[in-house]
This record gives sequence, structure tokens and C-alpha cells, in this order.
Amino acid sequence: MRYEEPIYRPPSEADSLLIQATIGCPHNKCTFCGMYKDKTFRIRSVQEIKEDILLAKQFYGDTVESIFFPDGNSIIMKTTQLEEIFRFAHQTFPGLRRITMYASAKFLRFKSLEDLKRLKTAGLNRLHKGLESGYDEILKRIQKGADSKLMIETALRVKNAGIELSEYVLIGIGGKDFSREHTMATADVLNKIDPDFIRLRTWVPVPNAPLYQDYLSGKFQLLSPHEALRETRLLLERLEVSCLFLSDHISNFVNISGHLPRDKESMLSKIDEMLELSESRFRPAIIENL
Ligand code: SF4
Repeated sequence: MRYEEPIYRPPSEADSLLIQATIGCPHNKCTFCGMYKDKTFRIRSVQEIKEDILLAKQFYGDTVESIFFPDGNSIIMKTTQLEEIFRFAHQTFPGLRRITMYASAKFLRFKSLEDLKRLKTAGLNRLHKGLESGYDEILKRIQKGADSKLMIETALRVKNAGIELSEYVLIGIGGKDFSREHTMATADVLNKIDPDFIRLRTWVPVPNAPLYQDYLSGKFQLLSPHEALRETRLLLERLEVSCLFLSDHISNFVNISGHLPRDKESMLSKIDEMLELSESRFRPAIIENL
């Protein structure tokens, strides 16, 4: 395959065929993110993308059931281009059941309900969207490119189009100063959206991320394992949603997963058990090669 590395994909896409539709991220300003800082953003041509799909066909035959289109925010492509790619993927792989990609609110704002419905009809099943926080002050500080109002508006549009929505929350992104505000506002936004999936990540300093310098200088203070767990606990407590809640990532101090509201009490109990453990039992603050 013709990849321009590094390639990132959510753990839930581990079994998906990866076809790069864009290289890098068209925003690339989030202070916590170091994923695409060394790449210059560009959109690949529909022809190149189709060629990659055909190359994959030579490798995998008819076995492909799921495709994820990296890199960041491939949703920025024109609706007509995405439709053409999705239809071609379906023609190429008769067993294809799922097409997904990353989509930030900053770029989803340019997709109307009609556009999203067309993408759904062409085969788009799920979007992975970074909420990170529901607290506007934090969204501004981390330069997410969207406020909570736009986060809610775009998320509801995705859901109304019948596309599954996976929202990512960043535990600890408010640091010690804004932990409570971050948690309360994030729960509030998620309650308004009621996504299909809520996926937790915990912010881990990575050298490529601009926020890393603030971490080194002490301007940004990381949460301790117990503080991160208490933040997760408060978030869970406040959630009034009907969805799958997952912490399916090594950045988290503990894996808490289940269906909400059904498993809320058992997940809270698991966090309480973890809070009994000494902080030295949890992962180190920095994870090499994250
Ligand atoms: S978090 Fe997403 S939108 Fe922000 S810079 Fe990274 S890839 Fe781009």
C-alpha cells in the first residue's frame, strides 16, 4: 500500500483497511495534539485514492468489511468526491459493511444535513469526532477551532443524517486548574448530543504537541492518576445518555467500559476500587512512543 506515515487510527478501526484520503490535518493547531505536526496538509486526488482501493483489492480480495480513511479530517473533501470514493469502495468490495473517518466540528460545519444524508446513502456509517472538552475556555486555550455550541450543532446534524457518532473526550485537558469546569461542561454537552459512543482519552504529554512546553515549564499541570480517575467518575456520574462508554486507549489509567445507563453503577464501583490503589500502581505520566 502507498502510505505516507505516520498513520493514526482509532483502536476500534484495528481491523479496518486504511486508505489515506488526506495527508496531515487541515487544522493542525490543537495544542494537545502532535500527530500531524510534521506533515503539510493536502487532499489526495480521487484517482489516487481509487488506485489505492484497487491495490488493496489485489492484497485482500473480497475480504474487506470495513474501511477507515485517514489522515485527519478527511470530511473536508467535497461531498461529491467522498460520494464517488465511497461508491467505488462498495463496488470494489462487495462485503463492505462499514466506512468511517475523522471529522472535527470545524469542518463538519460546512456539511449540510443534505450533504451528510448523501454521504450516508453513499456508504458512510460512522464519524470519529473530537469533542475533547465541553468547556469553552478550554476549547479556546487548546485551539480546537470550535466552541461548545458548534460541537453540539454539528454532532446533532450527524446524528440526524443517520450516521453513527463517536465522540472523544480528553480527560485531564483542563489540568488541575479547570478539572471541575471541564468535567461538568463536557457532561452537559454530551447529554445534549447523546452520541452513539463516548470514548475517553487521557492527555499524555508528547514532544510534538505545543502544550508539551507548558507541561515542561509547569504552566500546565497534569492530573495525577487519582485526580484523573475522579474526573472520570464525575463525568460518568453526570452523564444522562444512552450509549457505549469506552476508555479503549492506553493513555487511560484504567479501562472503564460499558453501556450507559445500564452499567453506570458497576463502572463507578470499579473506579472506586481503583481509587483504593496507591498512585504508584498506575502507569507513568509519560508514555514513550504513544
Ligand atoms: S486533534 Fe484532530 S483537529 Fe486537532 S490538530 Fe490533531 S488531528 Fe487536527
